[in-house]
Amino acid sequence: MKRLFLILFFLTAGQTAAIADEAPVLFLNGQVRQGEMLFGFVSPQSELTVNGEKIIPRKDGWFVIGIGRDDKGTLVFNAKKGSRETTRTFTIKPRKWNIQRVDGLPQNTVTPSEEEQKRIADEAVLTQQARKKNIDMPFPLCFSMPAVGRISSVYGSQRIMNGVPGNAHNALDIANKEGTKITAPADGVVLLVHDDMFLSGKTVLIGHGQDVVTSYIHMSKIAVKEGQKIKKGQEIGRIGMTGRATGPHLHWTVSWKDKRIDPQVFLKNSEKFCPIAPKPAKTKKAKTKKQKR
Ligand SMILES: [Zn+2]
Repeated sequence: MKRLFLILFFLTAGQTAAIADEAPVLFLNGQVRQGEMLFGFVSPQSELTVNGEKIIPRKDGWFVIGIGRDDKGTLVFNAKKGSRETTRTFTIKPRKWNIQRVDGLPQNTVTPSEEEQKRIADEAVLTQQARKKNIDMPFPLCFSMPAVGRISSVYGSQRIMNGVPGNAHNALDIANKEGTKITAPADGVVLLVHDDMFLSGKTVLIGHGQDVVTSYIHMSKIAVKEGQKIKKGQEIGRIGMTGRATGPHLHWTVSWKDKRIDPQVFLKNSEKFCPIAPKPAKTKKAKTKKQKR
């Protein structure tokens, strides 16, 4: 964070000293590789495009760009301010993915009937529509883990379910006892609440602005309502195993537009924007507290 402030200080100082017609500053935090969420900065009031698509940064110049698991090729960033512009081109680096075998799933969830396939498709439309809802709020740059538990599956793994090759696992699985609290990783607005989806069971989608949406599935209990504004740390619901799951866990996704992002990489890049945690109390004090009890 300190270093970030230092960069920002130099940027602001540089800008005031520079002549008005200076090319916009553009830099990225994170690696240009598959599954990444890049946190970028562009001089405020610049017009920004990525591969020709318009991106609207926060007022202070920060923005995010997601790269899908299977994305290839290049990302061309272009920032225009007045008559000057800055262009940067990056090649998306590939990543290697695990192969994960998941057995013991109810067979109908792996090879659903025609009727069930229709239900899955209808529910997918609901979540797609919810993801597109516009959220009018400044994107909160600092996110945290939504639940405590064991990481039982990472993002990107190619899955073989009951022996049948399935889709890649585009989420982070956090396993813990049924009833473990799930909290909002950042401020947001609840975009969708669904009580019983065929694959994902009790489901919640939260929008955070800048086209970033997080989702929470397989829950045993939901504690929020659609349209509700929520604060970081607020309870969203409880861990469960509703829908297609072999044990209680939170399947947590982070998406940018229609791309699923690696939640662990996202948190790592976001950490730089989080306030530094206060130092733990001195051991002496802690001891006296313990003795009192
Ligand atoms: Zn999962």
